[in-house]
Amino acid sequence: MAGFRVFLVVFTVCVVCVLVECKYMVYNTSQGIVPGKINVHLVPHTHDDVGWLKTVDQYYVGSNNSIQGACVQNVLDSLIPALLADKNRKFVYVEQAFFQRWWRQQSEAVKKIAQMLVTSGQLELINGGWCMHDEAATHYIDMIDQTTLGHKFIKEQFNVTPRIGWQIDPFGHSAVQAYLLGAEVGFDALFFGRIDYQDRAKRRDDKKLEVIWQGSKSHGSSSQIFAGAFYAGNYEPPTGFYFEVNDDSPVVQDDINLFDYNVQERVNDFVAAAFSQANVTRSNHVMWTMGTDFKYQYAETWFRNMDKLIHYVNQDGRVNALYSTPSLYTDTKHALNESWPLKTDDYFPYADRINAYWTGYFTSRPAIKGYVRMMSGYYLAARQLEFFRGRSKSGPTTDSLADALAIAQHHDAVTGTEKQHVANDYAKRLSIGYKESEGVVAASLGCLTQSSPSSGCKRPVNFNQCPLLNISYCPASEIDLSPGKKLVVLVYNSLGWKRTGVVRIPVINDNITVKDSTGKLITSQLLPIVNASITMRKFYTSAYMGESPSTTPMYWLAFTAVVPPLGFNTYVISSGKTTASTSIKPTSYVFGGSQTRAIEIGPGNLKLIYSGDDGKLTQYTNSRNLVNISLEQSYIYYAGDDGHKDLQASGAYIFRPNGTFPIQSEGKIPLTVFRGPLFDEVHQMINSWIYQITRVYKEKEHAEIEFVVGPIPIDDGIGKEIVTQIKTKIENNKMFYTDSNGRDFLERIRDYRADWDLQVNQPIAGNYYPINLGTYIKDKNTELSILVDRSVGGSSITDGEVEIMLHRRLLHDDGRGVAEALNETVCVHDTCSGLTVQGKYYLRLDPLGEGSKWRRSFGQEIYSPFLLAFTEQDDKWMNFPRPTFSAMDPSYTIPDNVAIITLQELEDGSVLLRLAHLYEVGEDKDLSVTATVELKRVFPNKKINKVKETSLSANQERAEMERKRLSWKVEGSNAKQETISKGGPVDPVKLVVELAPMEIRTFIIDFNSNLVQY
Ligand SMILES: [Zn+2]
Repeated sequence: MAGFRVFLVVFTVCVVCVLVECKYMVYNTSQGIVPGKINVHLVPHTHDDVGWLKTVDQYYVGSNNSIQGACVQNVLDSLIPALLADKNRKFVYVEQAFFQRWWRQQSEAVKKIAQMLVTSGQLELINGGWCMHDEAATHYIDMIDQTTLGHKFIKEQFNVTPRIGWQIDPFGHSAVQAYLLGAEVGFDALFFGRIDYQDRAKRRDDKKLEVIWQGSKSHGSSSQIFAGAFYAGNYEPPTGFYFEVNDDSPVVQDDINLFDYNVQERVNDFVAAAFSQANVTRSNHVMWTMGTDFKYQYAETWFRNMDKLIHYVNQDGRVNALYSTPSLYTDTKHALNESWPLKTDDYFPYADRINAYWTGYFTSRPAIKGYVRMMSGYYLAARQLEFFRGRSKSGPTTDSLADALAIAQHHDAVTGTEKQHVANDYAKRLSIGYKESEGVVAASLGCLTQSSPSSGCKRPVNFNQCPLLNISYCPASEIDLSPGKKLVVLVYNSLGWKRTGVVRIPVINDNITVKDSTGKLITSQLLPIVNASITMRKFYTSAYMGESPSTTPMYWLAFTAVVPPLGFNTYVISSGKTTASTSIKPTSYVFGGSQTRAIEIGPGNLKLIYSGDDGKLTQYTNSRNLVNISLEQSYIYYAGDDGHKDLQASGAYIFRPNGTFPIQSEGKIPLTVFRGPLFDEVHQMINSWIYQITRVYKEKEHAEIEFVVGPIPIDDGIGKEIVTQIKTKIENNKMFYTDSNGRDFLERIRDYRADWDLQVNQPIAGNYYPINLGTYIKDKNTELSILVDRSVGGSSITDGEVEIMLHRRLLHDDGRGVAEALNETVCVHDTCSGLTVQGKYYLRLDPLGEGSKWRRSFGQEIYSPFLLAFTEQDDKWMNFPRPTFSAMDPSYTIPDNVAIITLQELEDGSVLLRLAHLYEVGEDKDLSVTATVELKRVFPNKKINKVKETSLSANQERAEMERKRLSWKVEGSNAKQETISKGGPVDPVKLVVELAPMEIRTFIIDFNSNLVQY
């Protein structure tokens, strides 16, 4: 049958050849660069979102196509023959979460072909992280981790290191992306599509779309990168040059035997588009991004048309067209040896047109943002514990959490700009990853408490953890201690410093005592679990676990834990029959009505004063540093615009307020105060859907504000964006500071951009910036700092004030593709209500110049909270063989200005270590100095064989990266002397690492194969 068909085809072709001239057309696609002409670099690419309208797996296999016809498997499958068909064709692929899915399924033969295509440069893997991470709602540690994961895969399978940053779709671009995730991973250039429309217009006029970006004040020119913003504000081909099978651009029809021959028109269109782009671009080289979302599902149709265009355009000769890649384009620009304009700071916020600021997504889906951050800190700790016990070859491992977290950094994941079912998919992946890592953590702690180095781990203790502790749900601690049981709480500290902090767990008994690991009674404090918390606990355990717990804890038990660096301490809780118990029962009283006395809160140096008239916060005083300032805190909401004026509603991406409304308490604010030896708590029911607890600790000089916001009412038909405002008399003169991905602080000036004359049309939304670590304002005396527990948006809209957006619930889609209103609901059975969000922020005032110590060191504590684990023992149990532990030399601690941001055992037994200096140049008078870390004392039980310093993503030796890195000339910088300090090489005998301000250094450490157990 098959033979007959071949015969028939051959016969038919022969007949056709007799009727008209038969001509197999060979297109000349071999053209290189032609000096003196406009060279159009055609860069074939696809943009594959790691989840957005469909889940990552649905996009990969091509299911759920009624939502979006997209199948990444088709892209990669069809790419291989298309590239093999002509060695001049090129393609760049980006998202390794997809690529590794495909790779796993390929035969050895196909893998060999793909490896050959990568080696030859026809297929280039660029950017190379698991996803194209967002740049506003991501923390730098997550950005590093997800990039490392992708780069590791690429290195192992292809032995190459990506050269190009390709952040084409994220909604604004961060300084940390440019210098840290750009230059420090060894990229030679960074390209992107989305910058503010006003900025883009100016840059086009001035031919300044391509710049040298110095994203770091501390690193200056040493971490600069060539950065190109695309001229049309997107990452698509010029209009009329889309060639997917169902696109409506005219294909190049060059067969004279067929109707509609159009070669000359298409060449003319091409030349016109090339000239138009060349008019706004420096030099004779322009790049065309030939592809967009999920294109190349049948790759041949794109290449067929580009083959023809290259052939006929070059025959025409007015411009020169060639297959290219961003690497070739970058090398070409570099070879010109020209000077480029300088760009500092960042590209936030982003508006794509008037009244359309993409600043809503800084807060969208605050619960998933909180979950991502919580998992990020947990992953850091879990990898440490995995290493201390020894990575298991057979599992469980922390790898599935790594994968889930990497996917969650995508620019439609942690951003909150995905459809609801996709948000659920990200949460599910995180939960699965958490579960496996929880096993790793439990096993490691179970061993570490038991064993001395020689005895191995024969009878590990069974530890439980409480991921829902935030909603006061912790079955492991909610045990009845009265029949003589003991509850052991293990507190793990993943920081490289000794740390003191208050631990809170729900308990059911009231007569209980807490002893430390030496058996000494320590001060503890009991507080009632308030009704608001119990209601939330019941509702959310039912929603997430399908059942509500049978018992209800009565109290929070709080005590102070003191924990060594990279180690743990244990505390024993048991029932104490006598009242000699140091637990303090709550003393609560309610203010309001005739109360007129001011109310002072705080058992330590810091006092908050509340008005006796209305219960509002009025004053902040610190008796140690003598800061004494009037302070107000309140809630407002912005009504989300419904888009009726100009079709621009407030939505998942866009913040478009339509009016500011104070949130008034319903009647007088009942102020309930719980005082104790460790901290005081102020409870305020702001209204029926905002509950707030303010804590002032004896040993800390900041206020902790826990908020419970939701369900946000929408029965008036108006979406609402909930904001907390802190008001002071600080004269900040329009200036405020927000962090870049939790790292550098950038100066912001209200209604102002350094790069162009800002036309202010959205005085609130256009002044919002992403916040991952915190924000502060200052005047000549005082600075006010706010730190956050997740990514949020915030600003200083009037002088003296700082605001952060905590939650948003909106009723209209904002027209950027997601096609859903951001109206998160939670259902129990058939009853659904708006999502309630619980979180914390932290507030502190300091004399001018003294705030950064708290922002940096406490900021690190927020990122890496204590990890708690619980086990139950009987009455006779006394202690673990090892009740406290530190992986480090007991007399050693990492300096105050350095954090261990990665400590991870790799598959081959070597260890990935990243150390980060936490301060910028000039940020703090004591701590903005070079720090040293003694590796021998970090790993006292191991013999270090070799320390290799690598690029940030650990895929090449640092020296090799430095050697290869392109250096660029900056316009107008007439050899001005810069002093940039960097840590020197690590002496292989002394093994001391130096870190200059803001420096992050990455090492792969080989230990002696006779591993000594911790
Ligand atoms: Zn995208």
